[in-house]
Amino acid sequence: AKTPVTLLGLGAMGTALARTWLAAGHPLTVWNRTPARAEALAAEGAKVADSAAEAVAASPLVVVCLLDDASVGEVLDDTGLAGKDVANLTTTTPAQARARAAWATERGARYLDGGIMAVPPMIGVPGAGAYVFYSGSPELFERHRETLAVPAGTTFVGADAGFAALYDMALLGGMYGMFAGAAHAFALIRDEDIDPTALAPLLSEWIVAMCSSIPQTAERLRSGDYTTGVVSNLGMQVAGTPTFLATAEQQGISPELLSPFFALMRQRLEEGGRDEEDLTGVIDLLARTRGTA
Ligand code: NDP
Repeated sequence: AKTPVTLLGLGAMGTALARTWLAAGHPLTVWNRTPARAEALAAEGAKVADSAAEAVAASPLVVVCLLDDASVGEVLDDTGLAGKDVANLTTTTPAQARARAAWATERGARYLDGGIMAVPPMIGVPGAGAYVFYSGSPELFERHRETLAVPAGTTFVGADAGFAALYDMALLGGMYGMFAGAAHAFALIRDEDIDPTALAPLLSEWIVAMCSSIPQTAERLRSGDYTTGVVSNLGMQVAGTPTFLATAEQQGISPELLSPFFALMRQRLEEGGRDEEDLTGVIDLLARTRGTA
């Protein structure tokens, strides 16, 4: 028999998750603050609980997908969590995840935190690449591995409940850097006689090719040796930055997305003896602002 699942929160993401467990034949109990959002799922076979407490009582595995950590606290507060396996897929900070894990453990639950690497249309679609980072109780993860794998892939990243959120934010941070770079690229050509759809494939291929540097950066962080030699070294890259800034100015666009990165590159170079490094030293500069932000 398939593990019964309770799902709290039927927003866009919760609803997408719910459908996959129903389709896979898991008995599903749902609850949502606004009951109307449960109606379609009820017609598809979900049991709709009248309260969060009733929903929690219905299944050994309780999946939570609410707006934020505060809503998780509100919703779970008056429920009986003792003996329950709680998988909280709500996006939070790592500190909130750790605090929520301790909070759930105090109430006698096992706790797993999740960070969803997908948008709702990717959920339950084989090959779409959707997955969830999990961290927290390894026992809970092992016990419910198959059930958790129904809506999306699963990647367990450690017993520290904050790690799923941390991996999630790290990947999204990289993504926003990419969005920022692409925004700058499109802005540069925007007022010219250049079709943005002609630039698009070139830009995306270039970004993908440049991603090959990511494992190298990781190796350099691990070894502590940031030397790249004569190829694309920091000295050469900093020397090139005025060309980027002048081009932005000529095209009448703000360099604001790139100039903070250039400033860090220059700062690193000015420490002296860094000419033959790659860009890894910028990471040390960011870490140096720890505690001052
Ligand atoms: P929605 O805004 O669609 O849904 C929010 C859900 O939270 C609703 O069920 C809402 O209930 C409920 N809620 C909000 N505040 C409270 C409260 N105080 N008490 C009880 N319930 C509350 O969000 P999503 O479903 O898209 O997202 C849910 C989680 O999934 C978020 O943490 C989000 O970051 C994460 N996520 C979403 C992604 C996406 O692309 N959508 C991608 C990756 C992660 P009600 O219906 O009553 O308003």
